[in-house]
Amino acid sequence: MGDPKGFMKLGRKEGGYRPVSERIDDYGEVEQTLNDNDRREQASRCMDCGIPFCHWACPVGSKIPEWQDALYRGNYKLASEILHSTNSFPEFTGRVCPHPCEKSCVLAIHHEGVTIRENEAATVEKAFELGYIVPRIPQVRTGKKVAVIGGGPAGLSAADVLNQMGHSVTVFEKDDVVGGLLRYGIPDFKLNKKVIDRRINLFVQEGIEFKTNCHVGVDVKGEELLKNFDAVVVTIGAMKPRDLPVEGRDLKGVYFAMEFLKQQNKVVRGDEFSAEERINAKGKNVLVIGGGDTGSDCVGTSNRQKAKSVMQIEILPKPPVERAANNPWPYWPTVLKTSSSHEEGCAREWNVSTKRFIGENGVLKQVELVDVEWSKGDNGQWVMSEKAGSNRILDVDLVLLSMGFVHPIHEGLVAELGLEKDGRGNVKIDAQYQTSVAKVFAAGDAASGASLVVTSINNGRRAAENVDAFLKK
Ligand SMILES: Cc1cc2nc3c(=O)[nH]c(=O)nc-3n(C[C@H](O)[C@H](O)[C@H](O)COP(=O)(O)OP(=O)(O)OC[C@H]3O[C@@H](n4cnc5c(N)ncnc54)[C@H](O)[C@@H]3O)c2cc1C
Repeated sequence: MGDPKGFMKLGRKEGGYRPVSERIDDYGEVEQTLNDNDRREQASRCMDCGIPFCHWACPVGSKIPEWQDALYRGNYKLASEILHSTNSFPEFTGRVCPHPCEKSCVLAIHHEGVTIRENEAATVEKAFELGYIVPRIPQVRTGKKVAVIGGGPAGLSAADVLNQMGHSVTVFEKDDVVGGLLRYGIPDFKLNKKVIDRRINLFVQEGIEFKTNCHVGVDVKGEELLKNFDAVVVTIGAMKPRDLPVEGRDLKGVYFAMEFLKQQNKVVRGDEFSAEERINAKGKNVLVIGGGDTGSDCVGTSNRQKAKSVMQIEILPKPPVERAANNPWPYWPTVLKTSSSHEEGCAREWNVSTKRFIGENGVLKQVELVDVEWSKGDNGQWVMSEKAGSNRILDVDLVLLSMGFVHPIHEGLVAELGLEKDGRGNVKIDAQYQTSVAKVFAAGDAASGASLVVTSINNGRRAAENVDAFLKK
């Protein structure tokens, strides 16, 4: 522990966001950084608790007290090495992780947790700047070949670990570029895509092969990969969006969030779309259905496209501002989240359900909403009922469905290989990340269901260790 009294001398200090008036006109990252001195002082607030709850809460098991100490001492090389020992991409989690570690920090009992996520981003950026993060080219190759199907955080972290173990790894990606939801889901204002490119360039130098625009199960058969590789890791994400099959769902103007976000991410990159293809919120009344992170990203994107109004509705009740009595520290707090996108302008309503979409000549014009109430049924399960007389019709031009994802796409690869599914439709795996088909492993959202970047990274790394053990048998 760098400074045993650090937490007594200093309060929590965040980098904060760029002013709304400035950031709303661009897609640059909204978050600011502290200067090096302030950052190191923030690291000194870590008390190196005997039982580091931060480490317990972190899905990748980041050795947080150790690298806070190295950061405080200005040893960025060591801090970066400790970070990378459990996480292939601290530059991604440092930007987009909801940081369960910080909520479980002992100082968070009084809302003053160590700024672990920001410290992580700052450490890895400094390590890049100082030239400490360079290609680590494996000195020995095992002669074993592994195919990773899907280039999101799960697939990329599995590829990283397997490559460092000396196996020859090829990542197959159906999109034109790898990154998965980091690339085409999460907007640039949360994660600049150059950050992904920088890491992929290192991976290429380290010997990982990437085959993009290659949809396995369509462009190349899964069976072919089984023949040509010693093991296959399926990391195809959970891309099947939850739909809202109400009247008017087919009207022009109702889209899945990912159709909207993916296109905008491509536009930021410089791609062009015809007026017919383009989903643009400019001058429109936008309704985002779904109160989660994807919805929040739709809010931020709609405001940047200069929507006339943005409203986000959620069918569940509004969470409490403070932890409820049955949700104590150090557990993840189920409390109201207000993102940088919400701060930029958005009406938010809870306990609201969508009855139907109303259009003219096939084009969306209005939506009918109704308030709902939740009560406990006889079997103890929550039951929803509509509030009589609360129906209302709103003018709306663009609806973005952000109600989560149900499971991976079954058509194509999953069906072709005959991978067994669990009760929720995800690819079924055992404790060794092994699927029902010999030498096929799975990880990330494809096996866990839609989750977080940090969970996918961890699952990818754990799957890689199990693939390695299998290859050594
Ligand atoms: C809009 C949005 C915002 C989010 N924001 C956050 C956030 O701020 N913080 C956070 O922690 N999490 C966030 N998440 C969740 C997080 O992005 C995912 O949990 C994570 O990306 C899952 O990683 P994955 O590698 O399992 O799958 P994915 O990222 O979905 O990657 C799967 C990849 O597989 C490819 N693929 C699929 N099928 C095939 C095939 N047959 N052949 C070849 N390639 C294939 C896909 O094209 C894709 O590139 C967000 C999700 C969304 C949708």
